[in-house]
Amino acid sequence: GLVGEEDNLEDMQVRPPVVTIMGHVDHGKTSLLDALRETDVASGEAGGITQHIGAYQVTLSSGARITFLDTPGHEAFTQMRARGARVTDLVVIVVAADDGIMPQTIEAINHAKAANVPMIIAINKMDAPGASADRVRQELLQHDVQVEAMGGDVLDVEVSALKRQNLDKLEEAILLQSEVLELKANPNRAAEGVVVEAKLEKGRGPVATLLVARGTLRVGDIVVAGAEWGKVRAMVDERGRQLDEAAPARPVEILGLNGAPSAGDDFSVVDSEGRARDVSQYRQQQQRKRRQFTTPTSIEGMFSQLKEK
Ligand code: GDP
Repeated sequence: GLVGEEDNLEDMQVRPPVVTIMGHVDHGKTSLLDALRETDVASGEAGGITQHIGAYQVTLSSGARITFLDTPGHEAFTQMRARGARVTDLVVIVVAADDGIMPQTIEAINHAKAANVPMIIAINKMDAPGASADRVRQELLQHDVQVEAMGGDVLDVEVSALKRQNLDKLEEAILLQSEVLELKANPNRAAEGVVVEAKLEKGRGPVATLLVARGTLRVGDIVVAGAEWGKVRAMVDERGRQLDEAAPARPVEILGLNGAPSAGDDFSVVDSEGRARDVSQYRQQQQRKRRQFTTPTSIEGMFSQLKEK
């Protein structure tokens, strides 16, 4: 759960929602992520959200904030879920109004249902010839998704990512749904969260995007992330700005780990380098053991293991 054992209710503060966008190929996931990025009002002289660090946070004119996982498709969501990470508070399912429900739409609906994460339907491409929002609503009903107009409680919004239409309405729906979820976290504790992505970069070393779930992450903190550890040397946000600290639901790119962890790994701040080294060593041992002992139990198993390599 989001309330850690040692968190008292009075320490909990409202935090922004974390949103994943899913849907059928070509229905406009990438376009919508790009369009939503531009709704950020806090960019100012920094020149907008320009960095692709795997997640970004927009600040709306109301001051409300929303964090979007910037990886379209279902891969990131399933990868994180496979590792037991629950980072997404709600899923926006994009459906092209000129195409309707397609196989990956159904897959996305099933993912959201299996994860017990509420969904919002973005009926996209409303500007396109042949667009019909009503047809989409009918088709959704056939897949047990009842939007408000059909007597259900799933929010839907008609948008055009291309023409930048109704993006504010979509954001309103996200915030409305978030209020119902009462998303809170304790910012006054050692930070914990999830690795969104990580890579080795020439000249910079291991670079990891972390999403803080609870607590506040600070430069100088000693972090264990998956089987890697390090001291946070620098933190940068999606606008390329240097940060000293990162609050719950804020994605940040950090430098200072000794290796690249995997997307979906958890991270936590520990109180000493010795402790960090111990945990990291133990986890690396576990990883080696797991690799050593995954013996195929069938011919099919053997083939699928070979294919993975
Ligand atoms: P993805 O595969 O779901 O990420 O889809 P993309 O964002 O790559 O979009 C697929 C195609 O649909 C591109 O050619 C986009 O320009 C187009 N597209 C996306 N959103 C809209 C929209 O609101 N209206 C129209 N007419 N086309 C759109």
